[in-house]
Amino acid sequence: MNIKNILFSTQDKFKVVGVENGFDQLRIYVQSKQKNSVCPNCCMPSRKVHSYYTRTFHDLPAFGKASLLFLRSRRFYCLTDECALGVFSERFSTYFSPYKRRTSRLEKKLLNMALNAGGKPAERLCKQLSISISDTILLRLIHNAAIPEQETLTAIGVDDWAYKNRDRYGSILVDLHTRKIIDLLPDREESTLRKWLKEMPGINIITRDRYGKYQKAATKGAPQTQQVTDSKTITVRDGSSEDKATLEVNNPSTRLKETKFRY
Ligand SMILES: [Zn+2]
Repeated sequence: MNIKNILFSTQDKFKVVGVENGFDQLRIYVQSKQKNSVCPNCCMPSRKVHSYYTRTFHDLPAFGKASLLFLRSRRFYCLTDECALGVFSERFSTYFSPYKRRTSRLEKKLLNMALNAGGKPAERLCKQLSISISDTILLRLIHNAAIPEQETLTAIGVDDWAYKNRDRYGSILVDLHTRKIIDLLPDREESTLRKWLKEMPGINIITRDRYGKYQKAATKGAPQTQQVTDSKTITVRDGSSEDKATLEVNNPSTRLKETKFRY
């Protein structure tokens, strides 16, 4: 089997021109087979090559080794007279995004690990998988990721998190139904959380600790919500046919179907 068909799908316009099998690293050399590329400014295609250069990407590990892809890319002249971009770098519809150092399929896996395990645990998992990455970068992936379906949020938890050197803190927001991190705020200020809450009118439950600024932010930014404090363990139960969530705090006696989680 052609190694190109292992790395890419048969429709992808790339070819593998070499593989070096290092002690702990696979180095894979790839070329583009696109006939042209579309200018990101005027959206017109061009075939007129300006120059060649090599981009380096971390990719999914294979056989216990880290994978590095070396992609030979081109710069093209833009042929549109009025276009402000005289020269632009080649664009790809899959795998390789502009300005990135990791393939999109690797970033997707890293984001899922960070969302499910958190920064430090995900960093340790990555090390086991021969992926070298810090928890700071994993958290940045979460921060830069598109936030899914925020308009459906009804119950959130807020807590603080420390930057690496612990000289400042941000706020972490968790969807209590999905148990997923939904946003990271850059500080613990009342105004920041209050502004965020004002854009989420569907929220009716907030769990938080006794930090005064969170309490003020929740009261002013989302006065419709029920605020829950004291315990890190809460229970959310689907309580009615109108699909309203009923909150119970540490009520082990309930016999109805329920979901327990920590944030
Ligand atoms: Zn152009």
